[in-house]
Amino acid sequence: MAADIIDGKAFAAGLRARIAETIPAFREKTGRAPGLAVVLVGEDPASQVYVRSKGKATVEAGMESFEHKLEPTVTQDELLALIAKLNADRTVDGILVQLPLPKHIDEAAVIGAIDPDKDVDGFHVVNAGRLAVGATGFVPCTPLGCIMLLKDRLGSLSGLDAVVIGRSNIVGKPMAQLLLAESCTVTVAHSRTRDLADVVRRADIVVAAVGRPEMIKGDWIKPGATVIDVGINRVPGASEGKTKLVGDVDYASAAEVAGAITPVPGGVGPMTIAVLLRNTAVAAHLREGLSPPPTL
Ligand code: NAD
Repeated sequence: MAADIIDGKAFAAGLRARIAETIPAFREKTGRAPGLAVVLVGEDPASQVYVRSKGKATVEAGMESFEHKLEPTVTQDELLALIAKLNADRTVDGILVQLPLPKHIDEAAVIGAIDPDKDVDGFHVVNAGRLAVGATGFVPCTPLGCIMLLKDRLGSLSGLDAVVIGRSNIVGKPMAQLLLAESCTVTVAHSRTRDLADVVRRADIVVAAVGRPEMIKGDWIKPGATVIDVGINRVPGASEGKTKLVGDVDYASAAEVAGAITPVPGGVGPMTIAVLLRNTAVAAHLREGLSPPPTL
């Protein structure tokens, strides 16, 4: 039996529409729109594409987008001065610094300078700590998007065995915390894990965030399991000179065994920006002393 496809693109479109619906009431109460500031240093082509799509999606949701493009030669002090200005700006509810930063800049120092209540990427250590102790805070967008898809598919996750493959601060670790908060029994696998296939075989939920094309094979998957593929890998395509995107899971074989699976593209990918907009709308409500609408 072929797995059901988890349509992240459709879910993300629904979330974006729900966010947009909350903005007129926010404007009415506060006289302004929620604002997201995106800081881009240098000219990395992939980062430029991400920043452009974030700006477009922000405006489409009825929010304000402030883009700050800095030269690759900008000093750390100049960047920190911009962060301080954005922290103090009451029209800015969310601050996102596009990573990676040039080598002469200490990423941790820059992320650490963002007001945690404007840290809509959820990368500040205060927000990582809030997540770890179960306090309210901002959660990194990609893993929060994965949890939304899982809950939409499965309802309660309580008691399920979950395996997260990857232990990065951006995806793997917060993903494990979120699954734990949903009362899953969580295993975090990584590059030193022994018998990865056996570990994955135990899981009702598999979240793959490795960055290795099609590494997780169908015969590693427990029949009926729910598979969330975070990986985005560019590999040679069918014709000369062309490339295509594949996930960390070998989709064709996994879809034969899994109960449900996210495709790449069109699964987790579209969730990340939608959740960023959601976090920005939540930040805006909280900063104005308003309760975030339950639809967010
Ligand atoms: P990362 O490189 O920071 O972390 C990769 C993790 O995989 C590491 O913790 C490492 O221990 C583990 N790993 C490496 N080789 C392994 C192996 N052979 N077996 C088991 N574990 C192994 O990457 P990341 O930032 O967490 O991203 C992971 C993937 O997710 C990448 O493909 C990235 O492009 C993708 N990603 C997608 C989105 C999205 O919006 N969908 C967002 C962030 C990252």
